[in-house]
Amino acid sequence: MIYLDNSATTQMDDEVLTAMLPWLREDYGNASSIYALGRRARVAIEQARADIAACINAHPAEIFFTSGGTEANNTVLKSCVDESDLADTIAVGATEHHAILHPLEILAHKYPTAIIPVDEQGLIKKEIVHTYNAPRTLISIMHANNETGIIQPIQELRSLCPEALLHTDAVQSFGKIPFDVQQLGVDFASFSAHKIHGPKGIGALFIRKGIDFKAHQQGGGQERNRRAGTEATALIVGFALAAKKAYTEMEQRAKHTYSMISLLREELRNIEGLRCNTPEDNTLPTIINFSLEHADTIDGEAILQSLDIAGIAASNGSACVSGSMQSSHVLLAMGRSKAEAKAAVRFSVSRHTTKEEIQTAAAALKDILISLRG
Ligand code: PLP
Repeated sequence: MIYLDNSATTQMDDEVLTAMLPWLREDYGNASSIYALGRRARVAIEQARADIAACINAHPAEIFFTSGGTEANNTVLKSCVDESDLADTIAVGATEHHAILHPLEILAHKYPTAIIPVDEQGLIKKEIVHTYNAPRTLISIMHANNETGIIQPIQELRSLCPEALLHTDAVQSFGKIPFDVQQLGVDFASFSAHKIHGPKGIGALFIRKGIDFKAHQQGGGQERNRRAGTEATALIVGFALAAKKAYTEMEQRAKHTYSMISLLREELRNIEGLRCNTPEDNTLPTIINFSLEHADTIDGEAILQSLDIAGIAASNGSACVSGSMQSSHVLLAMGRSKAEAKAAVRFSVSRHTTKEEIQTAAAALKDILISLRG
């Protein structure tokens, strides 16, 4: 199989798995227990917290572990308006992940909410963002888009909205491009381990020091009363090691993945009717998205199925929407037609992707398009 769906998830790093195993076997203590077995887990968790904080230039006390990006996103939106009472209005980008858009739909029954439009490249419309600059407003704009890879100018958006609370979903960008909470000026940020060769089921929420944030999930007093539930020591240790490796190797990984994406872009450049939805600049080095113009007669799902038969794993966007073949809300927000937004393919690469794999995938896609067009 040629795996080109690394934005859905990545293969876990062997070293990460090895580092996790002792915490599942002999060192199985509960980090809240006072005896040695528990204290060892506590020390490992606090070391992991410090390691992750160092990656993003945060203080360890600003990092809270969650079960992943979805929980971090839900927590920040829901707690800001409900438990913490920090905001009473929420505005989010039109191309956010469903882990932002779906909780927003629920909150819209109780609070004023707004969707901020994007331009044809997928960049947030700055002239609209700044109209939401007000205290007690939470603005959530993702750092990099999971379907197209476009990077939003978070630092600039912060300066346009100094009064509002600002959250960014950094699930796709974390570990792939620099992310500095001080420089970007965000109040909250969401992260996940499984997009960077870490384990599934673990992530983190950055909460800026000084914000009176209250737990959305109540129970025990874990995570300094901000997220109840026994800490998953092995997953946390794995997350921290995956993050440390991603940061140490960031430049060389990005150089490699960018060259793979550039090769694919070149291979598919002159195919009639194939439009690239990922601009050449200002995007993640790991994602490229194509769609078929005038796609009315071609079923987008058929492209992915044919790629699968050819042994190539790709997707049409976020894993959460594939399977139920809807038009991509991201491409629709960018002004693409319904048919074009349905006939999309996203390729996402990792440090393991090879030149031969890219060439095979490009050739397969060309053949598939010829046969589907009859
Ligand atoms: N946010 C973005 C931008 C994502 O791409 C994803 C996963 O695809 C998530 C959030 C959800 O993260 P998790 O799978 O850790 O819950």
